[in-house]
Formats: sequence, C-alpha cells, structure tokens
Amino acid sequence: MSKVEAVIFDLDNTLVNTKALEGFRKSTPGEAPSEDLLRETKVYPKVRTILREILSKGVKLAIVTNSTKRYAHAILEFHDIKRYFGSIITYNDVSLEGKKPSPNGIEMAMKALNVGKKVLYIGDDEVDFNAAYAAHIKPIAPAWASNNPIKQIPAAMLSSTYLIDELDDYDGIKLLAEFVARNGAFSLPKKRYYFMPMLLNGDVGALKKENIDAVCLGRYFSQGDPLTALLHNKHALSQEIYKKDLHPNYVMPEYFVDLTLFYISKAPKFFYNTDDARFDIVTVIPSKKGKNPRLENMLNRVSKKYPDKATRFISDLFYFEDDARSLKTLGGRDVREAEIKEKLKLKNKYKHEIQGSKVLIIDDVFTTGATLRGAFSLIEHCIPDRIFGVCFAKTVNIKTVDKFCPECGRKMQCRTNRKTGKMFWGCTGYFEKTNQCRHTEDYSQ
Ligand SMILES: [Zn+2]
Repeated sequence: MSKVEAVIFDLDNTLVNTKALEGFRKSTPGEAPSEDLLRETKVYPKVRTILREILSKGVKLAIVTNSTKRYAHAILEFHDIKRYFGSIITYNDVSLEGKKPSPNGIEMAMKALNVGKKVLYIGDDEVDFNAAYAAHIKPIAPAWASNNPIKQIPAAMLSSTYLIDELDDYDGIKLLAEFVARNGAFSLPKKRYYFMPMLLNGDVGALKKENIDAVCLGRYFSQGDPLTALLHNKHALSQEIYKKDLHPNYVMPEYFVDLTLFYISKAPKFFYNTDDARFDIVTVIPSKKGKNPRLENMLNRVSKKYPDKATRFISDLFYFEDDARSLKTLGGRDVREAEIKEKLKLKNKYKHEIQGSKVLIIDDVFTTGATLRGAFSLIEHCIPDRIFGVCFAKTVNIKTVDKFCPECGRKMQCRTNRKTGKMFWGCTGYFEKTNQCRHTEDYSQ
C-alpha cells in the first residue's frame, strides 16, 4: 500500500461555502470581499477536522483555486484556516492560460510541496476534475460540500471519514468495477465500495435515492484524445472494456458476471431500504446485427448463477434494426440520439410484462447516454414501476474537439502500438466489417 502524499483542495464551495460571493467575484475580480460579505461565507462543518486529521497523518495540504490572491487569502484568513496549507496557488500565480482545467496550478502546488503523483485533488466542478486528470492525479468529489451533479466523473466521491481512512492507500481509491478489474477477480476486501449515482443526462453526484436514474461502477478513458488515451493505458477496467473492439468474439470475464450478480442482489435493498426488494426484470442493451452479443451472453451466465427465481432475465427485451450503426463511429450527441430513436426497439411480446415492474437495464459503457435514454423511453411507454440503469463504466472525455477520418468521416481514436508503445491516430472504422477503414495518422505532440 502506498500512502497519499498530499491532498490539494479547491477553495470555493469545497472548503468554504462562498455562494454569497458569486456576484462579487464576477463584478469585482481581484478584490478582497468586505467583512460584511465574508461573514456570509461559511467553512463547511467537517472541514477543520478534515484538515487537522490529514496533517496528523503526515500528509501535506495545498489549495489550487481559480480565484485571485487577494480574494482567496481574505477568505482563508477570515476563517483562520490559511495556516494549514503548505502551498496556496491562485489565479495570480498561473494567469489566464494556467487556470483550471489547465493542470499548471496543481503541478505548481505539487512542486512546492515536493511530492510525487500520489495526490488527491478535491473539487466541486468539472474543471477541477479535468485539471486533476490532466495532472495525472485523482480527482475526488467531496460528499460534505454542495453537491450539484456534474458532467465529469471523478475517481470517487468521499465523505470526510472515508477520505481520512483512504489516506493510507492511494491505489485503493477506486470505483467498484475498477477494483474488480484490477484484481482480475470479484472480491471485496473492503466493507465499503464506491460507485457514482448518475442522472440520465450523464451528470454524477450525491443524488437522493429517488432521483438516481443509473449507477456507474467505473470509468472508461476515451481514446478520442491523447490525454485520456494515456490514462487508458494504465487503467485495467478501461483496457478490459476496450478488448471488445479488439477481439470480435470477446467474452466478458467471469468477474463481470459476479459483479452483476452482486449488483442485482444488493442494489434493490439500497434503493428501497427493505430486504425483500428486487428487480422484476433484468435486461441488457443488445448488440447490433452481426456483432458479438457479449452482454446478452453475460446476462445468460448471470441468470444461471442467480438464486432468486422471481427475477426474470430477458436478454432480448430490446433489439436493434438491421441497419443500425455503431455509435462509436458517429460524432455528436444529436446524431447518436437520432440513430437510437430510429433503430432501438422493444420486442412486442414483452410489452405487457413491463407494466408495474422494476426493470434494470445493464450497459457496459455510458458515453453520451443516448442508448440508455432511448431504452428508458421505450420502457416508459409500458408504465413500469421504476426503471434503473447500471453501467460498468462512464466515459471520461476531456477535450470537446473530435478528430475525424479524412478518408471516411468516422471518428478517430488515439491508440497505442503494443510492440513499440508509440501512440497513433486510427480510424474507428478499423473495427467495422462493412466499409472497413484502415486509415491511420502519426501522433505528434
Ligand atoms: Zn476512416
């Protein structure tokens, strides 16, 4: 086990609730707030204890904020928490191009603290997580602060107690599916396991149980960008999921079966707080015609192992029209949404069984969410009791700029040559049987 070397915090709405200063920050950038304004800000109740306990474990502390120096220092001094931090990096240190999501501030703080890469960055916003990914450290969402759902998925969401406990084991901070993939087997050495509650639009956060549409058990690093492609190369779950593209007859490892069994048996108790709650129907997002039915096959394996015969496993609840295209080759959200709406269908013979049922839909990767939204809306027409989604991973996509193939117009991926370790751009059409495209381009930084 390797210890966490440092914890770096965002300031606004992570350490201190500064919602009252939002207007002030925008209208008078660079100024320190007045005493009256400062009195309207509050340190989150757990924060002082967290800071003291982190230091008492010999772990270093820093702040990296996009706010200005005068503003940040005024807040920290007013609440008397400035003394805990070994480094405080503000806008004044990094200027406009170094603001988060640039990793510059985080890298400066790590240098000032003289620490390696076993560092956590705790923040409440997408730019915080993206800056942490860019700095190759772990982004963490704080369960103690304001929790507006956010687009980007962090490495974990931690309560103050869990954060202190996890300081001894940096590598152990993983979402459930990542943990299982790293071990190559289903085992739960810890009593607690991490997942991210999610909305159908893909936002994650500390949602109320009744508002959760889906649960995400891990992360998949997109190969559409060199930064996340690098993270992909070091991430066991991401690598495993990518195998489905590399091998046309890919069979999902037994740990996905066991993880699914675990989820099906535990999740209803979590959602309903009763021991006898269960999913009535469990299904998967189907494969397209002529493609490997990997999730259907996995579900059949799950059904054989699952003891509760009152739960029905239906692997062909949905189907795709014959000419449906792979979403991975398509560009934007709107194109994907339209494709799903037109091509994903619900089998007529099952429609009457859905009414009043609790339905679980399993997918492996949540990218834009178009598929899961399409599946939800098909089921909603049949008036179920409630629909739940679960995915093994949500895609971490950092750049918004997509690279498209000059030969065929499909999306390009940043891949790694297994022999040389060199990265290159490859067309996603490489994996398609119809109109295969082998176009590649050199990748240079
Ligand atoms: Zn191409």
